[in-house]
Amino acid sequence: MPSPDLSDVVAEIAAEMAARPDRGQVATYIPELGRIDPNQFAIAVALRDGSVVCGGDCGTYFSIQSVSKVFTLTLALGLAGDRLWNRVGREPSGSRFNSIVQLEQERGIPRNPFINAGAIAVTDMILSGHQPREALGEILRLLQFLADDDGVHIDRAVAASEERTGFNNRALANFMKGFGVIENTVEYVLGVYFHHCAIAMTARQLAAAGSFLAHQGKNPATGHSVITAERARRINAIMLTCGHYDGSGEFAYRVGLPGKSGVGGGILAVVPGKASVAVWSPGLDAWGNSHLGRIALEMLTTRMGWSIFGAP
Ligand code: GLN
Repeated sequence: MPSPDLSDVVAEIAAEMAARPDRGQVATYIPELGRIDPNQFAIAVALRDGSVVCGGDCGTYFSIQSVSKVFTLTLALGLAGDRLWNRVGREPSGSRFNSIVQLEQERGIPRNPFINAGAIAVTDMILSGHQPREALGEILRLLQFLADDDGVHIDRAVAASEERTGFNNRALANFMKGFGVIENTVEYVLGVYFHHCAIAMTARQLAAAGSFLAHQGKNPATGHSVITAERARRINAIMLTCGHYDGSGEFAYRVGLPGKSGVGGGILAVVPGKASVAVWSPGLDAWGNSHLGRIALEMLTTRMGWSIFGAP
């Protein structure tokens, strides 16, 4: 059976998502995110030839939140290499994204780089030897470079909102510091962490920025080699097993792709060898992952036969 036309599938998904009444709940624990209109949806599919197929609100900036953790991991692996794994594990946690329980049992070593504790430890590694402003600049410039778009920016209001209310992340960071897992001043680490979570991008930019993960470490649109093929494959593996926290099994079961979610309602998903996909809808499910974003990706992989586990 021939594959359906991608543009048709993307247009159908955008139309169906716009009409659905079930939209999930926007995150309110970061007050600034609680003000976002849940009636928004975007899907962008970046292909090997550099083109991007878009549906819905593809040009609207949103807070990428934990999707930034894919890029901080990429950057930290570039700086520290495999030494990074002495400070962070790579096993699924099976716990909520901001859970502290395993940290005590595992002597302050977070289970993986995508739960909050793990991402804070990764941010600490990026910060070492730099001023916070420089470290943040490195992260922002990496995203602008990967998206090939200087419009990628930090939403200062979102960062300030999380700085005021991020008590749980402060607890995680201090707890790790107590075990000697965090090197730098906790408030500096958190400052960089809150600001990289507050990076704002459009779905089109995010799909383009993730493209190197679908094409063996090379961005096909710009021709830039970003990381080795081996490292891209391994980051994809961690996205598959840990990218949706305790909802990672469900995401693999329904969507069948490596993916990373954020509480801003964005998801970056990777179709190895084919495409990088960004979806965004601010309403979240019980795991804190985009409700319609996951449904949209399930429709995309089902209709296109894009699950890494085989066509339907
Ligand atoms: N900045 C958010 C936090 O630390 C990111 C969480 C997320 O996107 N899952 O709580």
